[in-house]
Amino acid sequence: MATKRWVVTGGAGFLGSHLCETLLSRGHEVVAVDSLLTGALANLSAFEKKPGFSFLRHDIIEPFDVAGPVDYVLNFASPASPIDYARLPLETLRVGSLGTENALKLAFEKKARFIQASTSEIYGDPTVHPQPEEYWGNVNTIGPRACYDEAKRYGEALVTSFRRSLKANTGLVRIFNTYGPRMRLDDGRVVPAFIGQALRGEDYTVFGDGTQTRSFCYVDDLVRGILLLAESDYPDPVNLGNPGEFTMLEFLEIVRRLTGGGGKLTFSPLPKDDPKQRKPDIRRAKAVLGWEPEVHLEEGLKRTIVWFRTQVKA
Ligand code: UDP
Repeated sequence: MATKRWVVTGGAGFLGSHLCETLLSRGHEVVAVDSLLTGALANLSAFEKKPGFSFLRHDIIEPFDVAGPVDYVLNFASPASPIDYARLPLETLRVGSLGTENALKLAFEKKARFIQASTSEIYGDPTVHPQPEEYWGNVNTIGPRACYDEAKRYGEALVTSFRRSLKANTGLVRIFNTYGPRMRLDDGRVVPAFIGQALRGEDYTVFGDGTQTRSFCYVDDLVRGILLLAESDYPDPVNLGNPGEFTMLEFLEIVRRLTGGGGKLTFSPLPKDDPKQRKPDIRRAKAVLGWEPEVHLEEGLKRTIVWFRTQVKA
Protein backbone atom coordinates (compact mmCIF):
# COMPACT_ATOMS: atom_id res chain seq x y z
CA MET A 1 0.00 0.00 0.00
CA ALA A 2 1.31 3.45 -0.94
CA THR A 3 2.45 5.73 1.85
CA LYS A 4 0.25 8.82 2.16
CA ARG A 5 0.66 11.96 4.23
CA TRP A 6 -2.08 12.76 6.72
CA VAL A 7 -2.72 15.87 8.81
CA VAL A 8 -4.73 15.12 11.96
CA THR A 9 -6.03 18.19 13.82
CA GLY A 10 -6.74 17.37 17.44
CA GLY A 11 -3.97 14.79 17.04
CA ALA A 12 -3.14 14.85 20.77
CA GLY A 13 -6.74 14.20 21.76
CA PHE A 14 -8.50 10.93 22.48
CA LEU A 15 -9.69 10.09 18.96
CA GLY A 16 -6.97 12.04 17.15
CA SER A 17 -4.15 10.18 18.88
CA HIS A 18 -5.68 6.79 18.04
CA LEU A 19 -6.01 7.88 14.40
CA CYS A 20 -2.34 8.94 14.35
CA GLU A 21 -1.21 5.67 15.91
CA THR A 22 -3.17 3.49 13.48
CA LEU A 23 -2.02 5.49 10.45
CA LEU A 24 1.64 5.17 11.51
CA SER A 25 1.22 1.43 12.07
CA ARG A 26 -0.05 1.20 8.49
CA GLY A 27 3.12 2.88 7.22
CA HIS A 28 1.75 6.37 6.61
CA GLU A 29 3.24 9.76 7.48
CA VAL A 30 1.34 11.83 10.02
CA VAL A 31 1.42 15.47 11.08
CA ALA A 32 -0.55 15.91 14.31
CA VAL A 33 -1.75 19.46 15.02
CA ASP A 34 -3.06 20.35 18.47
CA SER A 35 -3.37 23.39 20.74
CA LEU A 36 -3.22 21.12 23.83
CA LEU A 37 -6.30 22.88 25.22
CA THR A 38 -7.94 19.54 26.00
CA GLY A 39 -5.41 17.21 24.32
CA ALA A 40 -2.18 16.07 25.99
CA LEU A 41 1.34 15.29 24.84
CA ALA A 42 1.16 12.11 26.91
CA ASN A 43 -1.32 10.77 24.32
CA LEU A 44 1.50 10.83 21.74
CA SER A 45 4.06 8.94 23.82
CA ALA A 46 3.24 5.50 22.38
CA PHE A 47 4.23 6.55 18.85
CA GLU A 48 5.88 10.00 18.80
CA LYS A 49 9.31 8.56 18.04
CA LYS A 50 8.11 6.51 15.08
CA PRO A 51 9.49 7.52 11.71
CA GLY A 52 7.02 9.61 9.74
CA PHE A 53 5.46 11.34 12.75
CA SER A 54 5.65 15.04 13.53
CA PHE A 55 3.78 17.31 15.91
CA LEU A 56 2.78 20.93 15.38
CA ARG A 57 1.50 22.81 18.41
CA HIS A 58 -1.01 25.21 16.96
CA ASP A 59 -4.54 26.43 17.62
CA ILE A 60 -6.31 25.96 14.29
CA ILE A 61 -8.56 28.98 14.87
CA GLU A 62 -5.50 30.75 13.37
CA PRO A 63 -4.64 29.89 9.74
CA PHE A 64 -1.85 27.38 9.32
CA ASP A 65 0.23 25.70 6.68
CA VAL A 66 1.99 22.36 6.54
CA ALA A 67 5.04 22.23 4.28
CA GLY A 68 5.04 19.58 1.57
CA PRO A 69 2.32 17.43 0.10
CA VAL A 70 -0.76 16.40 2.08
CA ASP A 71 -3.15 13.67 0.93
CA TYR A 72 -5.70 13.73 3.77
CA VAL A 73 -6.81 16.17 6.47
CA LEU A 74 -8.77 14.69 9.39
CA ASN A 75 -10.37 17.51 11.39
CA PHE A 76 -10.68 16.24 14.96
CA ALA A 77 -9.84 19.36 16.98
CA SER A 78 -12.50 20.34 19.53
CA PRO A 79 -13.40 20.05 23.18
CA ALA A 80 -15.77 17.09 23.06
CA SER A 81 -17.18 16.27 26.48
CA PRO A 82 -20.19 18.15 27.86
CA ILE A 83 -18.27 19.53 30.84
CA ASP A 84 -15.36 20.59 28.62
CA TYR A 85 -17.48 22.50 26.18
CA ALA A 86 -19.61 24.03 28.94
CA ARG A 87 -16.31 25.30 30.42
CA LEU A 88 -14.97 26.40 27.02
CA PRO A 89 -18.01 27.56 25.00
CA LEU A 90 -16.31 30.28 22.96
CA GLU A 91 -13.27 28.12 22.23
CA THR A 92 -15.63 25.33 21.12
CA LEU A 93 -17.56 27.63 18.78
CA ARG A 94 -14.35 29.07 17.35
CA VAL A 95 -12.62 25.78 16.70
CA GLY A 96 -15.76 24.36 15.08
CA SER A 97 -16.21 27.40 12.81
CA LEU A 98 -12.90 29.26 12.22
CA GLY A 99 -10.84 26.15 12.93
CA THR A 100 -12.82 23.99 10.53
CA GLU A 101 -12.50 26.64 7.81
CA ASN A 102 -8.72 26.87 8.28
CA ALA A 103 -8.38 23.09 8.12
CA LEU A 104 -10.63 22.99 5.04
CA LYS A 105 -8.52 25.65 3.33
CA LEU A 106 -5.37 23.65 3.98
CA ALA A 107 -6.99 20.55 2.48
CA PHE A 108 -8.29 22.52 -0.49
CA GLU A 109 -4.90 24.09 -1.25
CA LYS A 110 -3.20 20.70 -1.00
CA LYS A 111 -5.92 18.96 -3.03
CA ALA A 112 -6.31 16.61 -0.07
CA ARG A 113 -9.43 14.74 0.98
CA PHE A 114 -10.96 16.35 4.08
CA ILE A 115 -12.85 14.41 6.76
CA GLN A 116 -14.86 16.36 9.30
CA ALA A 117 -15.45 14.88 12.74
CA SER A 118 -19.13 15.56 13.20
CA THR A 119 -21.23 14.07 15.94
CA SER A 120 -24.46 12.44 17.04
CA GLU A 121 -24.97 15.71 18.99
CA ILE A 122 -26.22 17.26 15.75
CA TYR A 123 -29.36 15.14 16.33
CA GLY A 124 -29.82 16.89 19.70
CA ASP A 125 -32.41 15.25 21.98
CA PRO A 126 -33.73 13.06 19.17
CA THR A 127 -37.39 12.44 18.49
CA VAL A 128 -36.53 9.78 15.89
CA HIS A 129 -34.99 6.56 17.19
CA PRO A 130 -32.58 5.10 16.16
CA GLN A 131 -31.09 8.08 14.33
CA PRO A 132 -30.55 7.73 10.56
CA GLU A 133 -28.47 10.28 8.62
CA GLU A 134 -31.66 11.67 7.05
CA TYR A 135 -32.89 12.94 10.44
CA TRP A 136 -32.44 16.71 10.85
CA GLY A 137 -32.31 16.67 14.62
CA ASN A 138 -33.77 18.48 17.61
CA VAL A 139 -31.23 20.97 18.95
CA ASN A 140 -31.77 23.86 21.37
CA THR A 141 -29.81 26.76 19.86
CA ILE A 142 -29.35 28.54 23.22
CA GLY A 143 -28.97 25.63 25.64
CA PRO A 144 -25.77 24.60 27.46
CA ARG A 145 -24.84 22.12 24.71
CA ALA A 146 -25.49 24.62 21.89
CA CYS A 147 -21.87 25.77 21.62
CA TYR A 148 -20.83 22.26 20.58
CA ASP A 149 -23.96 21.16 18.73
CA GLU A 150 -24.29 24.30 16.65
CA ALA A 151 -20.55 24.50 15.94
CA LYS A 152 -20.72 20.96 14.60
CA ARG A 153 -23.88 21.69 12.60
CA TYR A 154 -22.21 24.77 11.13
CA GLY A 155 -19.16 22.61 10.39
CA GLU A 156 -21.30 20.26 8.30
CA ALA A 157 -22.78 23.23 6.40
CA LEU A 158 -19.33 24.72 5.82
CA VAL A 159 -17.83 21.45 4.60
CA THR A 160 -20.81 20.89 2.31
CA SER A 161 -20.53 24.44 0.93
CA PHE A 162 -16.82 23.97 0.17
CA ARG A 163 -17.77 20.80 -1.64
CA ARG A 164 -20.63 22.38 -3.60
CA SER A 165 -19.06 25.68 -4.54
CA LEU A 166 -15.37 24.71 -4.80
CA LYS A 167 -15.62 20.98 -5.57
CA ALA A 168 -13.53 20.19 -2.48
CA ASN A 169 -13.14 16.47 -1.75
CA THR A 170 -14.88 16.06 1.61
CA GLY A 171 -16.48 13.49 3.90
CA LEU A 172 -18.53 13.80 7.10
CA VAL A 173 -18.48 11.29 9.92
CA ARG A 174 -21.13 11.56 12.65
CA ILE A 175 -19.50 9.97 15.67
CA PHE A 176 -21.63 8.44 18.41
CA ASN A 177 -20.38 7.90 21.99
CA THR A 178 -16.94 6.31 21.79
CA TYR A 179 -14.75 5.05 24.60
CA GLY A 180 -11.34 3.50 25.15
CA PRO A 181 -7.82 4.11 26.45
CA ARG A 182 -6.65 7.76 26.55
CA MET A 183 -10.02 9.17 27.60
CA ARG A 184 -9.33 11.68 30.35
CA LEU A 185 -10.31 10.45 33.79
CA ASP A 186 -11.71 13.90 34.61
CA ASP A 187 -13.50 14.69 31.33
CA GLY A 188 -16.90 14.22 32.98
CA ARG A 189 -18.28 11.70 30.51
CA VAL A 190 -20.06 8.69 31.85
CA VAL A 191 -17.41 6.13 30.89
CA PRO A 192 -14.49 7.76 32.78
CA ALA A 193 -16.85 8.93 35.54
CA PHE A 194 -18.25 5.49 36.39
CA ILE A 195 -14.98 3.60 35.89
CA GLY A 196 -13.08 6.17 37.98
CA GLN A 197 -15.69 5.91 40.73
CA ALA A 198 -15.53 2.10 40.60
CA LEU A 199 -11.73 2.02 40.84
CA ARG A 200 -11.62 4.56 43.67
CA GLY A 201 -14.47 2.90 45.57
CA GLU A 202 -16.59 6.05 45.39
CA ASP A 203 -20.35 6.39 45.01
CA TYR A 204 -21.67 6.41 41.46
CA THR A 205 -23.04 9.75 40.21
CA VAL A 206 -26.16 8.95 38.19
CA PHE A 207 -27.76 11.93 36.43
CA GLY A 208 -31.55 11.84 36.14
CA ASP A 209 -33.13 8.47 36.92
CA GLY A 210 -30.55 6.59 34.84
CA THR A 211 -33.08 5.38 32.25
CA GLN A 212 -31.61 7.57 29.50
CA THR A 213 -29.77 5.50 26.90
CA ARG A 214 -26.47 5.66 25.04
CA SER A 215 -24.73 3.33 22.59
CA PHE A 216 -21.00 2.90 23.17
CA CYS A 217 -18.45 2.19 20.43
CA TYR A 218 -14.93 0.97 21.17
CA VAL A 219 -12.29 3.32 19.78
CA ASP A 220 -10.58 0.73 17.53
CA ASP A 221 -13.86 0.06 15.72
CA LEU A 222 -14.43 3.77 15.24
CA VAL A 223 -10.91 4.41 13.91
CA ARG A 224 -11.30 1.58 11.39
CA GLY A 225 -14.55 3.12 10.15
CA ILE A 226 -13.11 6.63 9.89
CA LEU A 227 -10.18 5.41 7.82
CA LEU A 228 -12.49 3.46 5.52
CA LEU A 229 -14.49 6.65 4.97
CA ALA A 230 -11.32 8.68 4.38
CA GLU A 231 -10.05 6.22 1.79
CA SER A 232 -13.41 6.18 0.00
CA ASP A 233 -14.73 9.13 -1.97
CA TYR A 234 -18.12 9.14 -0.22
CA PRO A 235 -19.42 12.71 0.26
CA ASP A 236 -22.51 12.47 2.48
CA PRO A 237 -22.70 12.12 6.29
CA VAL A 238 -22.08 8.63 7.68
CA ASN A 239 -23.03 7.58 11.22
CA LEU A 240 -20.36 5.56 13.01
CA GLY A 241 -21.23 4.01 16.34
CA ASN A 242 -22.20 0.78 18.02
CA PRO A 243 -25.96 0.18 17.93
CA GLY A 244 -25.91 -1.75 21.23
CA GLU A 245 -28.09 0.50 23.41
CA PHE A 246 -27.92 0.62 27.23
CA THR A 247 -29.58 2.65 29.96
CA MET A 248 -27.07 4.35 32.23
CA LEU A 249 -28.18 2.02 35.06
CA GLU A 250 -27.48 -1.02 32.86
CA PHE A 251 -24.13 0.46 31.91
CA LEU A 252 -23.31 1.10 35.57
CA GLU A 253 -24.04 -2.51 36.49
CA ILE A 254 -21.66 -3.75 33.77
CA VAL A 255 -18.91 -1.43 35.08
CA ARG A 256 -19.58 -2.64 38.62
CA ARG A 257 -19.40 -6.29 37.58
CA LEU A 258 -16.17 -5.87 35.58
CA THR A 259 -14.38 -3.84 38.24
CA GLY A 260 -15.91 -5.42 41.32
CA GLY A 261 -15.97 -1.95 42.84
CA GLY A 262 -17.80 1.26 43.50
CA GLY A 263 -20.18 2.36 46.20
CA LYS A 264 -23.86 3.17 46.25
CA LEU A 265 -25.81 5.07 43.62
CA THR A 266 -26.38 8.80 44.08
CA PHE A 267 -28.94 10.56 41.90
CA SER A 268 -28.84 14.20 40.77
CA PRO A 269 -31.01 16.04 38.24
CA LEU A 270 -30.55 15.31 34.55
CA PRO A 271 -28.50 18.16 33.02
CA LYS A 272 -30.52 20.49 30.78
CA ASP A 273 -31.01 19.17 27.23
CA ASP A 274 -29.31 15.85 28.05
CA PRO A 275 -30.54 13.52 25.27
CA LYS A 276 -32.91 10.87 26.61
CA GLN A 277 -32.03 8.29 24.01
CA ARG A 278 -29.34 7.75 21.42
CA LYS A 279 -28.60 4.88 19.07
CA PRO A 280 -27.03 5.03 15.62
CA ASP A 281 -28.71 3.65 12.53
CA ILE A 282 -25.60 2.28 10.80
CA ARG A 283 -27.16 0.90 7.62
CA ARG A 284 -25.35 3.51 5.53
CA ALA A 285 -21.94 2.67 7.01
CA LYS A 286 -22.59 -1.02 6.31
CA ALA A 287 -23.69 -0.37 2.73
CA VAL A 288 -21.10 2.24 1.75
CA LEU A 289 -18.05 1.16 3.76
CA GLY A 290 -18.83 -2.47 4.62
CA TRP A 291 -18.27 -1.39 8.24
CA GLU A 292 -19.78 -2.55 11.46
CA PRO A 293 -18.42 -2.64 14.99
CA GLU A 294 -16.74 -5.84 16.17
CA VAL A 295 -15.76 -5.19 19.80
CA HIS A 296 -18.48 -6.01 22.32
CA LEU A 297 -19.05 -3.56 25.18
CA GLU A 298 -17.70 -5.91 27.85
CA GLU A 299 -14.53 -6.65 25.89
CA GLY A 300 -13.93 -2.98 25.12
CA LEU A 301 -14.61 -2.01 28.73
CA LYS A 302 -12.12 -4.60 29.99
CA ARG A 303 -9.41 -3.00 27.83
CA THR A 304 -10.50 0.47 28.94
CA ILE A 305 -10.47 -0.46 32.63
CA VAL A 306 -6.86 -1.64 32.27
CA TRP A 307 -6.01 1.87 31.02
CA PHE A 308 -7.94 3.67 33.73
CA ARG A 309 -6.23 1.61 36.43
CA THR A 310 -2.91 3.15 35.30
CA GLN A 311 -4.48 6.61 35.47
CA VAL A 312 -6.01 6.21 38.91
CA LYS A 313 -2.62 5.11 40.26
CA ALA A 314 -0.66 7.85 38.44
N1 UDP B 1 -24.00 10.69 33.11
C1 UDP B 1 -24.25 10.22 34.39
N2 UDP B 1 -23.28 10.38 35.36
C2 UDP B 1 -22.07 10.96 35.11
C3 UDP B 1 -21.80 11.41 33.79
C4 UDP B 1 -22.78 11.27 32.81
O1 UDP B 1 -25.33 9.69 34.66
O2 UDP B 1 -21.25 11.07 36.02
C5 UDP B 1 -25.04 10.53 32.06
C6 UDP B 1 -25.35 11.81 31.30
O3 UDP B 1 -26.35 12.55 31.97
C7 UDP B 1 -25.83 11.26 29.98
C8 UDP B 1 -25.03 9.96 29.80
O4 UDP B 1 -24.54 9.63 31.10
O5 UDP B 1 -27.20 10.95 30.02
C9 UDP B 1 -23.87 10.10 28.84
O6 UDP B 1 -23.17 11.25 29.20
P1 UDP B 1 -21.77 11.63 28.55
O7 UDP B 1 -21.36 12.93 29.18
O8 UDP B 1 -20.84 10.50 28.61
O9 UDP B 1 -22.04 11.83 27.00
P2 UDP B 1 -23.18 12.52 26.11
O10 UDP B 1 -23.68 11.38 25.31
O11 UDP B 1 -24.25 13.12 26.98
O12 UDP B 1 -22.46 13.53 25.32
